[in-house]
Amino acid sequence: MNPVYLDYAATTPVDPAVIGAMSECLGLDGVFGNPASRSHLYGWLAEEKAESARRQVADLLHADPREIVWTSGATEANNLALKGAAQARRSRGRHIISMASEHKAVLDALAWLAQQGWEVTLLNPLADGRADPQAVAAAMRDDTVLVSVMHANNETGVINDIVAIGTLCREHDVLFHVDAAQTFGKLPIDMRALPVDLMSVCAHKLYGPKGVGALYVRRAPGVRIEAQIHGGGHERGLRSGTLPTHQLVGFGAACELAAAVMAQEQVRLASLRDTLWAGLQELGDVHLNGHPTERLASHLNVAFGGVDGELLLTALAGVAVSSGSACTSASLDPSHVLKAMGVSDALAHASLRFSVGRYTTDADIRTVLEVVGEAVQRLRKGAQVS
Ligand SMILES: *Cc1c(COP(=O)(O)O)cnc(C)c1O
Repeated sequence: MNPVYLDYAATTPVDPAVIGAMSECLGLDGVFGNPASRSHLYGWLAEEKAESARRQVADLLHADPREIVWTSGATEANNLALKGAAQARRSRGRHIISMASEHKAVLDALAWLAQQGWEVTLLNPLADGRADPQAVAAAMRDDTVLVSVMHANNETGVINDIVAIGTLCREHDVLFHVDAAQTFGKLPIDMRALPVDLMSVCAHKLYGPKGVGALYVRRAPGVRIEAQIHGGGHERGLRSGTLPTHQLVGFGAACELAAAVMAQEQVRLASLRDTLWAGLQELGDVHLNGHPTERLASHLNVAFGGVDGELLLTALAGVAVSSGSACTSASLDPSHVLKAMGVSDALAHASLRFSVGRYTTDADIRTVLEVVGEAVQRLRKGAQVS
């Protein structure tokens, strides 16, 4: 039997309806053409598919399709947003504000900018994991050009007040970038109302394929970014490269599906997640990492007192979960997110991220509770003996 998959925050399987739409864009009898081919039907049909997908992605953001720039994922979208905006505004100032709890795709892009002469202020979140708008306000300087704060954290699911932070940015005429990889398709996002200039999203966290994403770039005079990938001038010069029609179609189909099921799905996931949390609490000495209510329905990040997290992960062969985020679980450093929240190294090491999704069942939760309960009790007994 395969382990129960409770790592939807790392990636999701592709929805069968999405697979169907994608497979129509691959073979000779499908729409396999190059969307940039202007001289024949194959190209025209592919362009039509790509533009229809652009509309589907834009619709889920309540944005204009012209505000969507295709990328290979949220990592590339973050790089394009941060490096592109910093470079476009270099003559105005070189100070950037972000959070120590951001995804590595933001932190590493900012570290690169810091090497190139930008000054980066990384704020710690509050103990509940949320970015503090007042701390952002206090960090603002005359030479601040860009603020980047994620919508919801990938490890804890904690949701930030991007309206408050974006409003602040508007007051200071500072660009505001939001990494929304975890919230896109889970929370309603309305770019008509949000004070956000740049937003990164990707397909593989909402039942679309890996390897495709987008950067939302507000159509406004003050919002300009510089291209990071050159060659052919695709995407109005902002991101060159032949458009992967099947990937775009998959992304678009996943967005349309998400819009249709989002409200109901989130209620169902919250109920599964709450059942899991109630069961885990019966083990005693378990701690919820992150804000109890301001978080996504899918996430549960728990510290197990008196247990080594790596041993626990090894003992949990029957469930696929993450310790820290997937990107950092190769190293044994405690999660940088939990550390930034002030969680002790010991508890951070003993923390696991459970994330439920579209195919999680009640039976899955029961299985996970059995497996985790058995493992935690065994490891706690072992720890007492040694
Ligand atoms: C998954 C994720 C990313 C990286 O997205 P890719 O499409 O895999 O490059 C970036 N930021 C957050 C918050 C994520 O959850």
